Amino acid sequence: MLNRRNFLRASGGVAAAGALAGAVPSVSFGATGSYERLRAGLQGDLLLPTDSGYDLAKQLQIAQYDAVSPQAIAYCETPQDVAKAIQFASSEGIAVRTRSGGHNYSGWSTGEGLVVDVSRIQHAKVNGSTLKVGPGASSIRAIEALTPYNKQIATGTCPTVCPGGFFSGGGIGYQTRKFGTGSDRVTAATVVLADGSIVRASSSYDSSLLWGLRGGGGGNFGVVVDWEVRPVDQPRMVWYEQWWDYDQAPAIFAAWQAWMANGSDDLAGQFVLVTPDAAPGAKPMVLTTGAYLGPQSELETALAQLNSLAKTAPLSKVVADLTYAEAMKRTYHCDQLTVAQCQRAGTTPDAQLPRTGFQRESYRVFNREMTATEIEKVLAAYDANRAAGHTRVLHVMGLGGAANRISRTSTAFWHRDATFVAGFVNQLGANPSATDVQAATAWAGNGGRVLDPMSSGAYVNFTSTELTDWQTKYYGGNYNKLRYVKFAYDPDNFFRHPRSIGS
Ligand SMILES: Cc1cc2nc3c(=O)[nH]c(=O)nc-3n(C[C@H](O)[C@H](O)[C@H](O)COP(=O)(O)OP(=O)(O)OC[C@H]3O[C@@H](n4cnc5c(N)ncnc54)[C@H](O)[C@@H]3O)c2cc1C
Repeated sequence: MLNRRNFLRASGGVAAAGALAGAVPSVSFGATGSYERLRAGLQGDLLLPTDSGYDLAKQLQIAQYDAVSPQAIAYCETPQDVAKAIQFASSEGIAVRTRSGGHNYSGWSTGEGLVVDVSRIQHAKVNGSTLKVGPGASSIRAIEALTPYNKQIATGTCPTVCPGGFFSGGGIGYQTRKFGTGSDRVTAATVVLADGSIVRASSSYDSSLLWGLRGGGGGNFGVVVDWEVRPVDQPRMVWYEQWWDYDQAPAIFAAWQAWMANGSDDLAGQFVLVTPDAAPGAKPMVLTTGAYLGPQSELETALAQLNSLAKTAPLSKVVADLTYAEAMKRTYHCDQLTVAQCQRAGTTPDAQLPRTGFQRESYRVFNREMTATEIEKVLAAYDANRAAGHTRVLHVMGLGGAANRISRTSTAFWHRDATFVAGFVNQLGANPSATDVQAATAWAGNGGRVLDPMSSGAYVNFTSTELTDWQTKYYGGNYNKLRYVKFAYDPDNFFRHPRSIGS
């Protein structure tokens, strides 16, 4: 059948789509539809507001989005379930949001229409040199599956983030400086498109779709139901954690930036300022933590270099040569938990990890080190407007290495000159007061404005509450091609959220 997508693919895909871009028709959304018809056709479950379990089913990782009440949540168990849910929503004119792990900071994986949940598509199977992983196989589950093979993939710093969103936005973790972003090692993806068709995008077929899926952001082109990833042979990691005196924070931050930027590809890590309760007078804590993907002796030498650059020594230091699974479980604070327990509370009977109540954040990507004056400004913004009961974090994660030896245009992930990503994060308990919400929003927003002029862009997986010019900041020069891919594969803009391609 020659439809618009086939035409665009046959006629050179994205180039031809350019001529048609701008003619995207809008769809009307909002009809309630006959959900019983969908329920009857699904292998998985459909939860309506009147069904028991609905309140749990609508939850994301951050409790503030409990305020959003979807018409229904479809727990899809197969690609065919996904296709049925999409065709149903399309025929009924119901807006769809796609959800895997539900970790999007900005709540893009929920909405007032139908949530297509693929968290139950959680296979993780190694076949030769390929890992086939479902969008709902959380990091901790993927790690468990890889362990017998002594292999790893990029997994971020949260055990329950899922590949559905993680790879779609790029995916950065302790493996990134050595092996690239998570999506750099994706070779193919099976996707359910807006018309319900199921395609396998690879370098041979639907290659522009695969290009867009590798860093172009989740919820844009279709619902990924399977990723094919090339894991790396890397059974062990040397995990480290150092706590420092806050009085030395400017020197430690300056030293950390240079240390990370000039370090071996084996070096991965984060610089973190954290104030669990930011009441006036409370002293923040300084943490440098991460992993080394080479021998422990080399890490010890590198850590001594950091002390020397900072001209101070940490208050405490722990270094441990661990398996991939052990190192990541420590990173996740799950080393005393089973895999079944290391899940978001409510998602399985054993799950123990609490949700975040409320969060505001502003992140930017950097392609250079901050100067001493810039560090002063950042630390002043961090210390500003103290508020009791607010958890405040300055979170900086090292990038670069192998991720920067790939061209900007070979995948949709643009930030190939980045040395780190940094953000202000303000967390509160569930149901905060309006005053606290306002203070958190102002603090994180001000942090973003301080970071902005020093930065080279922003990372779509670390969304920012406020971000002007998000198209350029998230996607740089790849945005136009993303629009073409969007038009080729979702011409009616069926998959959309507040920052979706073309919105
Ligand atoms: C505590 C915490 C720690 C984090 N640490 C890291 C980190 O170390 N490194 C990092 O890179 N990121 C990190 N993230 C960010 C995380 O990678 C992104 O939020 C990611 O998009 C989450 O994916 P998800 O499937 O869990 O979330 P969801 O909220 O389900 O999805 C995120 C986005 O992707 C879309 N989407 C979901 N599933 C699919 C699918 N199957 N097909 C197409 N689109 C889909 C959604 O519609 C939404 O727009 C962290 C987030 C949290 C909350």
